[in-house]
Parts: sequence; structure tokens; C-alpha cells
Amino acid sequence: MRTQPNIIVTGTPGVGKTTHCETLAQNTGLKHMAINDVVKSRECHDGWDKEFGCWIVDEDKLLDVIEDEVKQGGYIIDWHACEVFPKSWIDLVVVLRVDSTVLYDRLKARNYAENKLQENLDSEIMEVLLQEARDAYDEEIVVELRSDTAEEMENNIERIESWITNWKKNNAAEKEQ
Ligand code: ADP
Repeated sequence: MRTQPNIIVTGTPGVGKTTHCETLAQNTGLKHMAINDVVKSRECHDGWDKEFGCWIVDEDKLLDVIEDEVKQGGYIIDWHACEVFPKSWIDLVVVLRVDSTVLYDRLKARNYAENKLQENLDSEIMEVLLQEARDAYDEEIVVELRSDTAEEMENNIERIESWITNWKKNNAAEKEQ
């Protein structure tokens, strides 16, 4: 049984996953696991997709590589996809959302090519990742949070931190029973 929860922070690129995860990791001691870095550094891929500008992820290898660590608990998993992780590993799924004009500006600032930018904007508008999270996990563990402004981010961080505190309390109580 885990003594610390595992949380997925997901959402369209540019929505604020890295920023949220880094702050949460600093404040809570949970570990930030950026899946993009894992895929690259531990070679869980079949090469680079030039058209989409991303790694072609070998999901089986990815799960094999992270399984022992994640099963111990205490990870904040940061990725634009979430359905690949087994339900039994995950305690909370946070789907960050952002206004499309704000997202446009953020991706533009990152010099995204026009086709990639448009694809991500469409994905955000169509709620693709929210739907994916709702399809893959029980609805009570999926939380949608807005990330347009710094103030919203602060509120989100506070909310997730109190969720973690409660999870630990409930978990400790369950263990004693
Ligand atoms: P992701 O990891 O989802 O691609 P990032 O965390 O890298 O997103 O954020 C993309 C950019 O948007 C960064 O420059 C970050 O500082 C900014 N940003 C993210 N969330 C917010 C927010 N809630 N308010 C203001 N700026 C934000």
C-alpha cells in the first residue's frame, strides 16, 4: 500500500503542467516525474517523429521502466497523455485547462510551428485530454482546473496540497483500522 499518493498532471502543451509540478514538488516533497524526460533519457521510444516533432513513445517500455518507482507512491506524473497509466497506480488526475487565446500566446512564445500550434489549440478547444482522463479513470478522481493566470495557479497548488494532506490523513487512518 502506498503511503504517499500518485498524481497525474495532464493537459495540452503550454497549459502549465511543468510549472505546476515543479512548485508542487518543491512544496510537498513529492517527486516530479516528467515523462518527456523519462522517454528521452531512458530510451522508451522508437525514434523521433519529424512531422509531429515528438518521440514515438514505446508505451510498454515506458511502463516497465517506471513501474517499480511509481508503485511506491509519491510521484507527480507530468505528461500530455494520461490513459497509458494503470488505474491502480493513480490517486488523482488533474487536467489543467487554459483559454485558447492565452494558449496561443504561450505557444507562440515558444516558437511553435503554425501547424503544431493549431493542432494544440484544437485539442484544447475540443477538450481532448479532459475526455481522455474521464474515459480512463473514475470520475471522482479527475479534477479540471483552470490555469490562465498566476493567481489561478496559486489556487490550484493550494488545492492540490490540501488534497495531498487529506489523502495522507485518510490513508494513515485506514492503515490503523
Ligand atoms: P506545459 O508543461 O504544460 O507545457 P509550462 O508549465 O511549460 O506548460 O508553461 C508554459 C508557459 O506558460 C510558461 O512560460 C509558464 O511560465 C506559463 N504559465 C503556465 N501556467 C501559467 C499560469 N497559470 N499563469 C501564467 N503563466 C503560466
